[in-house]
Amino acid sequence: MTPTSTAGGNATVFHFVMVKPSHYDDDGYPIQWVRSAIPSNTLACLNGLAEDARRRQVLGPDVEIRLHTYDETNRRVRPEAIISMIRREGGRALIGLVGVQSNQFPRAVDLARQFLAAGLPVCIGGFHVSGCIAMLPELPSDIREAQALGISFFAGEAENGRLDPVLRDAWNGRLAPLYNHMDDLPSLEGEPAAILPWQHVRRTSGSLSSIDLGRGCPYQCSFCTIINVQGRKSRFRSPDDLEQIVRANYAQGIKRFFHHRR
Ligand code: SF4
Repeated sequence: MTPTSTAGGNATVFHFVMVKPSHYDDDGYPIQWVRSAIPSNTLACLNGLAEDARRRQVLGPDVEIRLHTYDETNRRVRPEAIISMIRREGGRALIGLVGVQSNQFPRAVDLARQFLAAGLPVCIGGFHVSGCIAMLPELPSDIREAQALGISFFAGEAENGRLDPVLRDAWNGRLAPLYNHMDDLPSLEGEPAAILPWQHVRRTSGSLSSIDLGRGCPYQCSFCTIINVQGRKSRFRSPDDLEQIVRANYAQGIKRFFHHRR
């Protein structure tokens, strides 16, 4: 990983910026809605894991981790404004483009270029990277070209402490080209709850938050990507996990959920 993660002189702050990119329409505009239909479950999961990493002080007790979440399907993402914010506040940073599906990959790389040009490290995760690694004999050209730009990739799921080394590597300015967890799908029981700040939830139609109680599927529908990415073994959160998710959301006034079931 070539770019440095130092954005300013403040060596006690680390910004983890999580962006769920949208995709381009036929004229090349990123598609956005005033209110999106459903919340991004990946963004909620990553944010929950990042909040947990912050609580556990994974970068040491002297580093303050600041979390920033953006869902481009219902909010404009302006890299120059994010870069200015990081420069203004100082410290180091990691830009995570999360839950990136194949039709969102070109938009994710275009966003990534702007952060890379500012010297900020970028990691892309989601179904495109995970699915290509799981299903194709070799990486497609779009991923190889993005790797050549210096973008790091995360394949698989980030539970079971798998976000921690990525944050530490970004903090130390040496992201790996690929974090590949496709062969080892994590258990979900007892993992941090998916949660989004209220400002995201109010941008969804019906003010819905997100719950995913299971991943993976035992069936074999020929057209399905989920079984290649999330495996054919169903993995579940526990009833206690569900209670914690509902309570954590209720504490910020969120009482309605979209349940992602796979
Ligand atoms: S997730 Fe749905 S589409 Fe995929 S294999 Fe299972 S039942 Fe079929």
